Order: sequence, then structure tokens, then C-alpha cells
Amino acid sequence: MVVTRWWRGLQARREEAAVARRAIPDDLWKRTLVRYPFLLRRDPADGAELRRLTSLFLDRKEFTAAGGLRLTDAMVVAIAAQAVLPVLRLGLARYDGFVGIVVHPDQVNARRAVADEQGVVHEYDEALAGEAVDGGPVMLSWRDVRSAGRDGLAYNVVIHEFAHVLDFASGGLAWQAALHDEYERFRARVDACHDVDTTDADFDDVIDPYGAVAPQEFFAVASEAFFVCPQRLQAEHAALYPQLAAFYRQDPAAETPAPRRRG
Ligand SMILES: [Zn+2]
Repeated sequence: MVVTRWWRGLQARREEAAVARRAIPDDLWKRTLVRYPFLLRRDPADGAELRRLTSLFLDRKEFTAAGGLRLTDAMVVAIAAQAVLPVLRLGLARYDGFVGIVVHPDQVNARRAVADEQGVVHEYDEALAGEAVDGGPVMLSWRDVRSAGRDGLAYNVVIHEFAHVLDFASGGLAWQAALHDEYERFRARVDACHDVDTTDADFDDVIDPYGAVAPQEFFAVASEAFFVCPQRLQAEHAALYPQLAAFYRQDPAAETPAPRRRG
């Protein structure tokens, strides 16, 4: 229809204007890719799309600094580029359910309360590296954002929290059935590891043992491994990898340059 074509044309012009408004300087973009090498793509078209979505993300979302932190361009570009990686093929509209991103200098203590089987409420403090709530702002600890991609670990708080955002957007249904068996197997392995009186440090897996806490946490930590250490995830979790590849419509093990071997 003509109207549809006219509307699409208008949308495309608006996006073009937003990308121009929020253009990322070449040197800043290059530094971001060096600092977070899992953002690199073999196909230049994918790399250009990641940069375009990063500009659009910066245009649509509001960053707020908390706790005396001073946000720089390098910081917001680092967060935005990692945030849009999961939606490279799914589209930025998946993130329409929220606007704000609050960045703290470090982890934030949150007071939690749980009721036990007798109904007695226990309060405790939980240190949060990040938090995503349905419809609300995404909270991130800059210290944790900055540590991403170091030491060859999959740990990535931005991808973790934005996997939760995607989860809210899809009602959790898109992946839960597919990942259910993988989750149960993973949880059994983490439990067995604890049974023999070892710590999480002895659990040798590219997926963080935190994934055993709940299916949605398994999805979030598996997503970190999928984007940050895809070759390792594919080698260690041959059945899980293609399911995440189908969900994200990406194949980072093939689409990213192979990681350099460390000394
Ligand atoms: Zn989580």
C-alpha cells in the first residue's frame, strides 16, 4: 500500500536523522571494539549495523549517573554497543518497554526479604552488579561493565541484563521450552559439584554456575557465554548453542573472528 510505503519512508528518514545526531566518532568506535573484542564482526555489514543500532539506542534511551559517577561518551557507547548486540537481527523495538539506564560506580546493595516455610521473613543484603525490572530502568554497575571481556571469561553484566529485558518482551515463552532440558541438566551438574563440597570456582564451565538459580538466570548467563565466548560455548554445550543461535538469529562462533590464544 502507498500509505505503508510512505510511512516506512518516513521511519527510515527519522532513523537516519537519529543516527546522524548520535554519530559515534571513528576513533571512539575503534577503541570500543578493541576494549570489547566480542563486538567485532567478520562481515563489515554486520559491523556497520551494530554501530547504527548503537547510535539509535543512544538516541532513544536515557542514561543517568548515580552515586557521584561522571558518565563519559566512552562509557555510554560501551554500554549501548553491548546492549544492542543481542538484538542485532531482532531489531531495537524489542527494547521499547523501557527508557532509562542508571549507571552506578560499583555494585549496589539491595535489601531483600524472603519468607521461609514457617512464614518467618528473613532480610538480607544482596550486592547487585545490575538489575532489570519489567518496564522499569536497567541498573548497571560501571565497575562490572568495565571488567567485561577480561581474562577470557564470559562474564558480561550488560548482556545479562538485556537478556532479561528481551525475556520480559517475549513473555519468557520464546526460549523456555527449548532451554528447559538444558537448564535441568545444568542444575543437576551444579548441585553435584556442591554435593562433593567444592566451591563455584571448581565448576569448570563457560556458563556461570549462577545459572542454576532459575531458568531465566540460566538464559541470561548462557546468553553472556553465547556472545562473549561463542566458540567455547559451542564446544562445551553442543546442543544448547544452536538453540540460542535460533533465538538470537546469530551465529557468533562463525560470525566473529576466532579469539586470539593467550600466551
Ligand atoms: Zn539475572
